[in-house]
Parts: sequence; structure tokens; C-alpha cells
Amino acid sequence: MAMLLKGADAAKALTEQLREQAEELKKNGTEPCLAILRVGAREDDLSYERGALKRCEKVGITVRQVVLPEDAGQQELMDNIRSLNEDERVHGVLMFRPLPKHLDDEAARRALDPRKDMDGITDGSLAAVYAGTDGGYPPCTAAACVALLKHYNVPIKGKRVVVIGRSLVIGKPVSLLLLAEHATVTICHSRSENLPAICREADILVVAAGKAGMVGAESVRAGQIVLDVGIHVGADGNLCGDTRFAEVEPIVEAITPVPGGVGAVTTAILASHVIEAAKRS
Ligand code: NAP
Repeated sequence: MAMLLKGADAAKALTEQLREQAEELKKNGTEPCLAILRVGAREDDLSYERGALKRCEKVGITVRQVVLPEDAGQQELMDNIRSLNEDERVHGVLMFRPLPKHLDDEAARRALDPRKDMDGITDGSLAAVYAGTDGGYPPCTAAACVALLKHYNVPIKGKRVVVIGRSLVIGKPVSLLLLAEHATVTICHSRSENLPAICREADILVVAAGKAGMVGAESVRAGQIVLDVGIHVGADGNLCGDTRFAEVEPIVEAITPVPGGVGAVTTAILASHVIEAAKRS
């Protein structure tokens, strides 16, 4: 049976460290503050927002919720972004995307001050991930993958990592973050040939394809560590990931459950970014 890499354990340990840092900041007169900017009420956004609120409360971060109606105009959105950029009491901003279709997502993304970009959506943040500098904040889910591996003391240096997915939110940034940890990284995508054979070469397999159950026994071998980033509602109404867990789990050494794996660490990473931004301010 594989070891389960439980996100809650990693998140709890991180939360305890962050709470101490938040207290220290407050003693020195800084109240760490995250603004959440949401347009409309998409179920995904609301679910993430609930998780973020809970996590921030545990750490001792103040959250300011800025909610615009679904039919908000571009000017109203840009005005809110500008005012959060300028507000010195706000250390970080989490702006939910995708925005409703009538809004210019790209303009909104570009308007956010990279120093306040807590989820790696601006070019400034992505450039920092690319350059391997600590000037920005990587996308939270990508950073959560690395944090989970580190929490469980999974060796990364020198190991062969295969990432399925090349999105700007997960695939590319997690590949670069693991490269910075000295892994040998292969990035796969929908045009990759012989995908199962490439996956079987991995010591660590990160699956972020957004396709429910696409990775099964054919793509894994004994001794591997598997991070399943996918989240889907299965045909039975339960949450499931990109791997066929029942098939993969008996073969590999360790695997993240879905739910309760990578996703559970994401809000702890968000909180860590806010604390870091508060320290830098
Ligand atoms: P995305 O933008 O749809 O990207 C999916 C990537 O997977 C693309 O690069 C795509 O390749 C590749 N891919 C798709 N089908 C493939 C196949 N059959 N073989 C090989 N590669 C394939 O998705 P995303 O935003 O990165 O999200 C990935 C998953 O993570 C989703 O299930 C999402 O719900 C989940 N997620 C989880 C969290 C969390 O906190 N746990 C947070 C965000 C997202 P091409 O580039 O060639 O199209």
C-alpha cells in the first residue's frame, strides 16, 4: 500500500509557523492583510474563498473581501485594482480568474501590482519563477506541490521529475520550481508521444492535465511518488483527480489523495505569500 501524502498535515505545520510570524509582525505594528477580489459568484471561487478565509483566520491575517457584481464594468474593476495597489494596509491581493467573459482579463492581470500578486498571475511573478529569484510569488498550487514534497522529506535533488501539463498556473511553474530544487524535469502535454513510457521513468510524477482519471497503472511503477493536482467531480458525485487512484495506489510508493492532497496545501501557501509580502512592505 502506498503512503498517503496528506495535504492537511503539511498545511497544519506551515500554518503553525506562519501564526508565529504573523504575531511577530503585529508586535512590530504590521497587520498582515489580504484582499480578495471577486467578480460574480462562481462556485470554484466561492469554495477557494471559504478555504482562504479559514486559513487566514488560523494564521492571523486580516482579509478584506471586495466583491463586484457579475455585470461589473471594466472601469469599476480597474478602479478597484488600482485602489488595492495603492492601499498600504493591503499587503497582498488574490484576484479570482477567469473573469466574466465581458471583462478584459489580460488588462486586469496586467494592472495588478506584482508586489501584491499572491497567486503568480502577473508577468513580474512569472519572471521571478523563471529567473529563480525570490522577487515574486509563484502560483500557489505549483508552490504547494513543492511544499508537500518537502514536508514529507521526499528527495528532489537529482531526481527525475515528469510533469504532465504545461499551463501557466501549474505545469510550467511547478516544473521550474522543481528545477530550482535541482530535479531533472521533463514537461509533457497533449502532443507528447509515448506518455506512459515517459511517466514510468519518473521518480516523481506530477499530474496536472485536468483530465479525470487519465493516468492509470500503465503510467506508473513501483517506487514512484505521485502528486495528483487534478480536481473533478466524478460520475458518482465524489471528487476525484487525474489519476485512477484505485489502480495507481497499490503500485507506487506514495501518492496524494484527492481531495486532501495538493489542494489542501494551496491556501497555506497563499497565507505564506501574504506574510512574506507583509514582511517586505
Ligand atoms: P489546463 O490549463 O487545462 O492545462 C492542462 C494541461 O494538461 C495542458 O498543458 C494540456 O496540454 C495537458 N493535457 C491535457 N490533456 C492531456 C493528455 N491527454 N496528455 C497529456 N497532457 C495533457 O489545466 P490547469 O489549470 O493546469 O489545471 C490542471 C488540473 O489541476 C485541473 O484538474 C484543475 O482543476 C486542477 N487544479 C487544482 C488546483 C488545486 O489546488 N489542487 C488548483 C488549480 C487547478 P496542452 O498544453 O497541449 O493542451
